[in-house]
Amino acid sequence: MKKIFCGLSVVVAVAVLATSFIRQRNAAPHSLTFMSMDTAMTLTAYGPAATDALEAARTRIMAVEDRLSTTRPEGDIGRLNRASGAQVSVSRDTAELAAFALNLSTETDGALDPTLYPILCAWGFTTGNYRVPPQDELADLLSVTGRDKMSLRGDSLQLGPGTMLDLGALGKGYASDQAIGVLRDAGISSAIVNLGGNVQTLGLRPDGTPWHVGIAAPEGGLLGTLEIRECAVITSGGYQRFFTGPDGRTYWHILDPRTGAPARSGVLSATVVAESGALCDGLSTSFFVMGAEKAAQWYREHGGIDFLLYTEDGELWLTEGLEKSFTPSSRYERAKVRVIRP
Ligand code: AMP
Ligand code: MG
Repeated sequence: MKKIFCGLSVVVAVAVLATSFIRQRNAAPHSLTFMSMDTAMTLTAYGPAATDALEAARTRIMAVEDRLSTTRPEGDIGRLNRASGAQVSVSRDTAELAAFALNLSTETDGALDPTLYPILCAWGFTTGNYRVPPQDELADLLSVTGRDKMSLRGDSLQLGPGTMLDLGALGKGYASDQAIGVLRDAGISSAIVNLGGNVQTLGLRPDGTPWHVGIAAPEGGLLGTLEIRECAVITSGGYQRFFTGPDGRTYWHILDPRTGAPARSGVLSATVVAESGALCDGLSTSFFVMGAEKAAQWYREHGGIDFLLYTEDGELWLTEGLEKSFTPSSRYERAKVRVIRP
């Protein structure tokens, strides 16, 4: 009798598992598209809890935007940048991300600098009133930038006179970490969020297969496709925001903190793949500034991430972890590929 009961339990358990697997496989995607952080975002989740979970993820992203935005006067960064050097108490989100940015700024030898806001304003990247600032103006502004001009104690931030904070190089990655966290807490096991081209996934696709993520090419179209499991894929590129100066040159929004001018390292697009969105975002901006050789050196020293760089020489630099998962599109099939090993 006991044996029959045990046997029956196993059959029932297998049937329940199979049903839930089939339900997962057939789960319809639920999507939510909205504007936040100056970009279109689409969140997609699978399963019966998806609709409510997506709303909660959107609410979380909006809260992060409120706190981190440089243009919201009542947000943390808005208050801090108007505080004329006074200590300002900020939210956990802002304190956490500022600490992360300071640390990454040190680890990248200053390529990531979260205090470049006055220089971005001078170039017109904050307003769209673009101009090429003269050298002496840049030199003056560089005297108030640098991570040594900001200090963080607990949840209090303080800036030196004239210094301003801008976490824009990491904000979207932090927001996608938060969105994925909300979806996971809501019981979702399969989701993908796309924050203006920056992608982060939760679990695998509902049928248990990997996700395919397209990587934008600076010339338009796709550089290629990455096959990924649960991770973030974040790209920085000069083609994302730029203007053409009176001299006919292209000036983009990622600046070299040493000169205050757009970074010209030879990298046209830097994609970083890792578990943490904030890390991918911070590093993709940093690698764009540092250039391919220094990015490869960073990878050999620190590990924990993968990257794909496209250079102005038409080369693709990719770390070993992406060798099999990256498929170039036909236009880039003949590009010289350099595989970076640890
Ligand atoms: P991303 O698109 O993530 O590469 O971030 C670019 C944004 O980060 C710019 O729009 C600026 O707000 C800011 N930024 C530009 N250059 C740097 C830099 N070297 N370090 C940190 N933030 C930067
Ligand atoms: Mg970034």
